[in-house]
Amino acid sequence: MAVIPVYKVLVLPDTNVYLKTERFKKATGRTPRVDEHVTLLMLREETQKEQLTPSSFYPIGVSGAVSEVHEEGWFAVRTRGRVNLDQAAVYSDGRIEAYTSRREDSEVLSPQENARKTADVKAALTEFAKATQWEQVSRAWINQFATLSDIASACSPWMDASNEERYAILAEDSAVKRAEMLEKLIYEALEMGKLSQEGSSARQENYQKMVRESAIRKQMEYLQKELDEMHPENVSDIRRLELKIQESGMNETARREADKLLNRLKQEGANGAETGMLYNYLDFLTNLSWKKEPAREIDLDEAEKVLEEDHFGLKKVKDRILQQIAVMNLKKEQSGSILLFVGAPGTGKTSIGQSIARALQRQYVRVSLGGVRDEADIRGHRRTYIGAMPGRIMDAIQKSGVSNPVMVLDEVDKLSASYNGDPASALLEVLDPEQNSTFTDHYMNVPYDLSDVLFICTANTADTIPEPLLNRMEVIPFQGYTPIEKQQIAMRHLLPKAREAVGITEEQLTVSEDAIRAVISDYTREGGVRGLKKRMDTLCRAAAVNIVRKKGETLHITPENLREYLDMRPVRHRDVRESAAPGIVTGLAWTAAGGDILYIEAMLTKGTGQIVITGQLGDVMKESARLAISLVKHRFPDKAVVFSDHDLHIHVPDGATPKDGPSAGVTLTTAIASLITGRPVAPKIAMTGEISLRGEVTPIGGLPEKLMAAQRAGVEQVLIPCENEDDLQDVAKEILDQLEIVPVRDLDEVLARCGIEDAKPIPKAV
Ligand code: ADP
Repeated sequence: MAVIPVYKVLVLPDTNVYLKTERFKKATGRTPRVDEHVTLLMLREETQKEQLTPSSFYPIGVSGAVSEVHEEGWFAVRTRGRVNLDQAAVYSDGRIEAYTSRREDSEVLSPQENARKTADVKAALTEFAKATQWEQVSRAWINQFATLSDIASACSPWMDASNEERYAILAEDSAVKRAEMLEKLIYEALEMGKLSQEGSSARQENYQKMVRESAIRKQMEYLQKELDEMHPENVSDIRRLELKIQESGMNETARREADKLLNRLKQEGANGAETGMLYNYLDFLTNLSWKKEPAREIDLDEAEKVLEEDHFGLKKVKDRILQQIAVMNLKKEQSGSILLFVGAPGTGKTSIGQSIARALQRQYVRVSLGGVRDEADIRGHRRTYIGAMPGRIMDAIQKSGVSNPVMVLDEVDKLSASYNGDPASALLEVLDPEQNSTFTDHYMNVPYDLSDVLFICTANTADTIPEPLLNRMEVIPFQGYTPIEKQQIAMRHLLPKAREAVGITEEQLTVSEDAIRAVISDYTREGGVRGLKKRMDTLCRAAAVNIVRKKGETLHITPENLREYLDMRPVRHRDVRESAAPGIVTGLAWTAAGGDILYIEAMLTKGTGQIVITGQLGDVMKESARLAISLVKHRFPDKAVVFSDHDLHIHVPDGATPKDGPSAGVTLTTAIASLITGRPVAPKIAMTGEISLRGEVTPIGGLPEKLMAAQRAGVEQVLIPCENEDDLQDVAKEILDQLEIVPVRDLDEVLARCGIEDAKPIPKAV
């Protein structure tokens, strides 16, 4: 006899119990045989074979015989009656031996009663099965049951009854009560089934609804798109913004902000107070390019060709730009060090920025910073302000339509701090990619990655740029052009471009080389070529009038007819004076237009030792004047008394930049020395240099520009500080050829060169 332990199985008398063959094998070490006698014993709790003891079993079991062994791994036991477990033994190989005795029911269930109950349960089951798709199958299955126990046993796996509850039914001695318990269990299982069916169908309904909704939505989107395409003019603004937000590729933060404001826009409606602001904001945000552009490999030769095509000369500048491109190629980056082009107007700083963009095959944008005093111009206004706008940087990025334009920041030297904040410090934030690769414009309120933008700044002078800003940039000087260079620029670039702009051909307007030379020398006074460009434009317009009026006549410009067509007087050239007088000395100044000569004039008047300074240079000059007077007093002690009963009037003409004041130190001292010694200084000697109290001549800036100006004005000899001698290599040869450059070390050398060594009688005060 095989003893099979079972757990959580409903074991009842006079019915079929279905078990896995596995279970039989575990207990006996072999497969079941039909008709073999078995005893099923319920375990108190789930126990492994090795841990079984006689007390693992409940005291009541059931006996029966194997009625069926199925190939698919299960077998059936036809139970007969309940048995008491009198004694049990568990062997080490897991085999169980049990001594049992029959256990009688205390109350018997009549066959009629059983049949009635069974019929009821079957009806309920059939009803339940109707609601499922297995109605037909289950009907046959239900019909085969003959007793309540059969049904309960078959439904056992779906019953929500614990092991103890199942045993309690087996242990019940009254067959009537057992039937009630079974009934209850079956009905409970049925209810559970119904509930879960309802639940699952409810779930299913929900799910179906979801699927349907999303399908409808997709369909709507599709139809809307079709409609939009048919009538693009009807696409609503909100919808357009929605689409743009989806397609823009914004970063997470921007997307969140955009969605938030879009929702607000939807709530505001068409006439809301904030509608305009919200709309503008979203329009701005979505028009920005949020996509990273791939870094392109730039062919250096091609780039060089582009730079050469657009600009004549500027060799050093072009070399530096090519270096930058090479580095960018190597590092596979789209930006590098920030270049600052410093030079007079019209020297090609801005336009070369444009060429760089062309060489790099990138978009070009220009931001003019001249006169910007408000921090918000750079950083943007906070959105809460009425009429708030993004700053100029982000505005330019948006206009460029890409995330990696070449951005020229024009005139960074003209930024000025005001009570509205310091725009220079705001710019610092933009230009500091090492510390923060993203920039948050106040208006946008979300960070934007500027690390791919190539910034190029331009300025007329580096002196007025705040130190921290200047430190972030690499200064590249643009020194202005020599007359020969200007001639080339005019012929190769300015004239052809001007012709093209008014639509005339080379045959219709010719300008002789001499005429261009004359324009350069007589009609312009500048370091750059802006004036020259204007003159060329004027000539082309004159030719256009000529052609239209006289139907196709060509125009040939020569130095002779130049004045007629330029329609202006030659610029009064500050050529050096012919006559010399004590107290007047030719100086060289560095001006916004490049360089210029200037005369420093000194005069003594009757008075009480006052110093009067006129001209533009105010305070800086006053200091220099005091220094000059002390030096002269020291150098000519016997003349010192002159200063106590005379006033000294110094006049410095306008034009020079205030910062350049000190570089007139040498000129000023020489003028005063010339005045009190009565020795005139030849006007063809020009000088530049600062001076110390000990009389040493110290270096100055802008030497190339100053020498070009000297040459233009007809100066023959220029005294320059010894320490500036190195700068001469930046000066064009043709300029040096025409000037005698004299490096000087101290005041004595200067005075010796000017012929003021020994004193002459003091000039009479006027
Ligand atoms: P900046 O920015 O230094 O004031 P721009 O770049 O505006 O000067 O130049 C003024 C004009 O002069 C532009 O039309 C430019 O094309 C022209 N230009 C300047 N330098 C050169 C040059 N080296 N070759 C050709 N054209 C030049």
